[in-house]
Amino acid sequence: MTASYPEPGTPPSDLLRWAMAQFGNRFVISTSFQREGMVLLDMAARLDPQVRVITLDTGRLPEETHTMIEMVRERYGVHVEMVSPDASEVERMVTQHGPNLFYGSVPERKLCCQIRKVRPLERKLKEVDAYAVGLRREQSETRESITAVSEDRGKVKLSPLADWSNEQVRAYIAEHNVPQHPLYEKGYPSIGCGPCTRPTLPGEGERAGRWWWEDSADKECGLHFTPSGKVLRTVDVLLEQVLQPNA
Ligand code: SF4
Repeated sequence: MTASYPEPGTPPSDLLRWAMAQFGNRFVISTSFQREGMVLLDMAARLDPQVRVITLDTGRLPEETHTMIEMVRERYGVHVEMVSPDASEVERMVTQHGPNLFYGSVPERKLCCQIRKVRPLERKLKEVDAYAVGLRREQSETRESITAVSEDRGKVKLSPLADWSNEQVRAYIAEHNVPQHPLYEKGYPSIGCGPCTRPTLPGEGERAGRWWWEDSADKECGLHFTPSGKVLRTVDVLLEQVLQPNA
């Protein structure tokens, strides 16, 4: 990475402008079409409607996310690049562990996220030098230390909304009439795969509905944070069994 990075505190739109000028077609916005990702997409499309947008089509997305993708295509005219998992890896995983393995144990859940999210994203990121995501520090304990610009997997990773509040996100959406995912209206504050996301109860945290059957300490999918310790080692073993079933 040879680019000199923008100063801390650079406004999100200026960060996106910098990345689009610096990296051109080798910059993408990676989004699951939650509010934060839609703010980034809206900002970037105002700068250049040809901006590349990628999303992980895990094979377990709720129907409402497909509806949202159609809304985005129509509103912004972008071709959302759908990134799918390797079909043979999914076949072997669900044959070995069942289609709903995520409910069985934390390592099995993280194995599913590895096969359906992390590995497809890593494959897609080989096409680019930089990408932007909608992470915010106040979303959860695991996100408290993210910075607006970092390096990850050998790429420049932008989190332009790192220090934005939920209120700032909502204010931007209201001001610019940004489309919102249909599941927000049904009580989902955070949206992921269908079987792993539920609406939250009053007083629960923003990500309490993600993998709600697990402890809160490590509720990430591995896209942004690596599982640690025993879980990581167990996931590695399970992953090896999926990738090399006859080894
Ligand atoms: S969120 Fe659930 S269904 Fe989606 S990849 Fe992770 S474990 Fe699998």
